Amino acid sequence: MTASVLSNSSEYVYSAIREEDDFAEGLRKQGKQVIKLSSGDPALYFPTPKYIIDAYVEALVNGRTSYSRSQGVLELVDAVIERYRSRYGLSMKEQDVVVTSGVAEALTFLNSALMNAGDTAVILKPYYTQYPVAIKMFGGDFLLGKYDESNDWSIDLDALAKLIRRRRATSKRIKYMIITNPNNPTGTVLPRQALKEVVEMANEHRILLASDEIYDEIVFGGASFTSVGELAKGIPHLILNGASKAFDATGFRIGYVLVPEDDRVSEELKHKLADYCRVRLSSNTPAQYAIASAMNNRMEHQKTVSQMVKAIEGIVESAMKLLEENQCFSTVRPGGAFYIFPRIDMRSLEFKDDMEFVHVLLKEKFIQTTRGSGFGAPNHFRIVALAPRDVMSGCIEKINDFCREHSR
Ligand code: PLP
Repeated sequence: MTASVLSNSSEYVYSAIREEDDFAEGLRKQGKQVIKLSSGDPALYFPTPKYIIDAYVEALVNGRTSYSRSQGVLELVDAVIERYRSRYGLSMKEQDVVVTSGVAEALTFLNSALMNAGDTAVILKPYYTQYPVAIKMFGGDFLLGKYDESNDWSIDLDALAKLIRRRRATSKRIKYMIITNPNNPTGTVLPRQALKEVVEMANEHRILLASDEIYDEIVFGGASFTSVGELAKGIPHLILNGASKAFDATGFRIGYVLVPEDDRVSEELKHKLADYCRVRLSSNTPAQYAIASAMNNRMEHQKTVSQMVKAIEGIVESAMKLLEENQCFSTVRPGGAFYIFPRIDMRSLEFKDDMEFVHVLLKEKFIQTTRGSGFGAPNHFRIVALAPRDVMSGCIEKINDFCREHSR
């Protein structure tokens, strides 16, 4: 037998979010109308705002079509610095900001820059699907903390402290720890106090703390968002964010990493991330100018984003009402992002697991969702709450019918 041409680590490269895409496409080819509630893509349902499209076109017309500054055009870097100053009272310098082709690229750079084979990072389940993949891609491994479903999916701080202490007792290092706020897939906005405790833990155990805040503007129902940057002053940390969600511009592929501190770890990291950017030359040039312009156009942006958030809140509300009628589910109400993550009482249904549940749901009702096990949380499934209210309500009614048809 000849050895595989593939690397060992490529085995981990897989996306549960997109695993049913081909099957859904097949159904569409048969003429079925499949409703996609699996992709966290606001631009599928909320057209990217016109002023952002216009700014993109303007960048093209003005000849912004070459490679650009590898770590990001200064117009965007300055706009990001101003965004963090005005929203969170943080002050940053140009070197603290690194623009990437989405947070997805930032995660790849970060793990490549930090992880040696055998190194460990801490992630919390349910996790965003790319985190474990990006760690494993570079030979690293992860320890799993958890968000606590019985406490509105906030961080299980005791479990996290134990996990870290146990690891530290072996005198092995934890390279970094990443949290997601607001969370994908639970939609939880983490309480400030929980964040404070995580920051303290990271400080006590000298762990670099990363906070993925890509949904920071999508918060509703009285929830209040705190950036880790507000709490981690003087402590090595980094923040991941981008244009995909708050600027409704997923296909632009603009993300950024902020490394606001100047300690040795932070300095090493930001300089190395800049090297990664130089190696891949630049991210999308006209898109950077368009997002810079959108960030600077605060009035227009504020108006657009609040309309979108209000609409999302309405969609979530109507979906939650119908989900609560379903005896097979229990669902923590989200306070941000655009995800709903019901727990499925598997004993009441004739499926063996959440994977079968979402597959048969797609096959029979033409509704595409994502299995919870893909996020490290079996017996759950993720619904993306972006489709218009009536479409969403129709889908949840069908999901409720589906559960009745398949009850044990
Ligand atoms: N981080 C989280 C928590 C996400 O949910 C997503 C996309 O869904 C990403 C990162 C990737 O974002 P980007 O489009 O910036 O690559």
